[in-house]
Amino acid sequence: MTTQTTPKLTRDTLEIPYRHVTTHFIDGAWRESQGQDTIEVTDPATNTVWGSVPVGNEDDVNAAVDAAHAAFTTGPWSKTTPTERAEIMLRIADEIETRATGLSLTNTLENGSPVAETSGAAANAASIFRYFATLVPELEADDVRPFPNGQGESLVRKDPIGVCALIAPWNFPINLMVTKLAPALLAGCTVVMKPASPTPLSFRIIVDAVTAARVPAGVVNYVTGPGRMGDLMVRHPKVAKVAFTGSTPVGRHIAAACGELLRPVTLELGGKSSAIVMEDADLDEMSAKLIRSCMRNTGQTCYISTRILAPASRYDKVVDMVTETIAAAPQGDPLDPATVFGPSANLSQYKSVLEHLESAKAEGARVTTGGKPAQLHDKLAEGLFIQPTVLADVTPEMRVAREEIFGPVITILKYTDPHDAISLANNTEFGLGGIVFGSDQEQTLEVAEAMNTGSVGMNFFASNHAAPFGGRNDSGLGVEYGPEGLAAYLSYKSIHRGLK
Ligand code: NDP
Repeated sequence: MTTQTTPKLTRDTLEIPYRHVTTHFIDGAWRESQGQDTIEVTDPATNTVWGSVPVGNEDDVNAAVDAAHAAFTTGPWSKTTPTERAEIMLRIADEIETRATGLSLTNTLENGSPVAETSGAAANAASIFRYFATLVPELEADDVRPFPNGQGESLVRKDPIGVCALIAPWNFPINLMVTKLAPALLAGCTVVMKPASPTPLSFRIIVDAVTAARVPAGVVNYVTGPGRMGDLMVRHPKVAKVAFTGSTPVGRHIAAACGELLRPVTLELGGKSSAIVMEDADLDEMSAKLIRSCMRNTGQTCYISTRILAPASRYDKVVDMVTETIAAAPQGDPLDPATVFGPSANLSQYKSVLEHLESAKAEGARVTTGGKPAQLHDKLAEGLFIQPTVLADVTPEMRVAREEIFGPVITILKYTDPHDAISLANNTEFGLGGIVFGSDQEQTLEVAEAMNTGSVGMNFFASNHAAPFGGRNDSGLGVEYGPEGLAAYLSYKSIHRGLK
């Protein structure tokens, strides 16, 4: 009898659709860039360059926006019915699923997200398209509203807002762009998209899926290049709406530009979310959920709860269990399906995380596991790995308790009673995620309700395409997902008529 083993993925034999490219996607075709420079794409696990994309210039941005504008004003897209667009979106979902392997591997090589994470990227992207396709009734239902004084009625129309500039970060380069693209397409908008510079290749595969689904030319445009290209998109006179996910400083900059231009904008920014462990929490359950809710994607997820708030009476036990769980999670090659912790996604992130660790030590935090760069071997010896780290005895004024670290680092703070826990959780400029671990459902819900944040989980956290997702305070403006996320791509018009 022969036994079959799954062949181990090696970097040289991977089937990846794109490595070195010189084009942007403009007006229905991959076109040569007008810019002369290139951006190198680096595998953070080996710290080696494996791909490149062009740095576009103003001409590329103008061509992309002009194509989107022509497709919006004269092309068929905004005139199609929501049902017709939803049918195309279902085809896009199917096309994405046929490209799952290329999407997963490209994403992993771009930012070091473990394949255990990226292997779900295509299914998740397809599911977002399928979800928004179910929202056709939101757009097609007749909405006739009588005047309160009976003198007439108003027909409320939901028009597509126009050309949308969509800008995504590097931590989830596929999902965070699809989250914007799918509602924009259902609404009848056309788009110009720009990925983050470290992760420009994976989304090309989604663009191919869109093309294969026969989306008309000009509806979807995709350009690569640095932040300055994003700035040109945001300020372009033919752009009607901006949707951005990334850092709070860049979000503020975009908000200022949009404020000046009176241009609608959705911003999904940083977070510093808390996991409140109640006195009666089941700590085994907390440990089982810890990686997904507090350290997803090597700690590079905006909504995860990286500040654990533990009751004084169980503080040492919580620290022990968190330390044990983090220390036991395998770190290594992100191409290995068993890997939980990969490398930092890029050099600037790697340096920023190490700086945070140094500040924590200097300010008196106690490292219970990890705390420094991880030395891996062979091909991974030069990789950007940092040991998964737990910091205990963290106090609210420490830098690591206030700033988003965006790396494999958990901080644990102590609280005295539930009021203290809530006030510690809310003592942040951010307000994106959060989780409460507790056995008493009523009390767990009460604490969840008291947290000043856009989303919060009870013994569980996952984002739900059907429910609004967004941040409060410095975590952003507006929401994505759900009918509320679709509304951001609509412009309302009331047509009044008098009754005879
Ligand atoms: P940025 O905010 O710098 O980048 C996000 C996107 O915005 C990228 O596509 C970037 O392009 C683009 N961009 C940069 N400058 C401008 C501009 N002036 N106008 C328009 N677009 C612009 O995030 P970073 O990638 O530098 O990450 C820094 C920090 O942000 C992380 O440490 C983390 O704290 C936080 N972050 C939060 C995320 C979230 O999900 N909320 C996601 C990623 C990061 P380019 O890459 O070419 O500069």
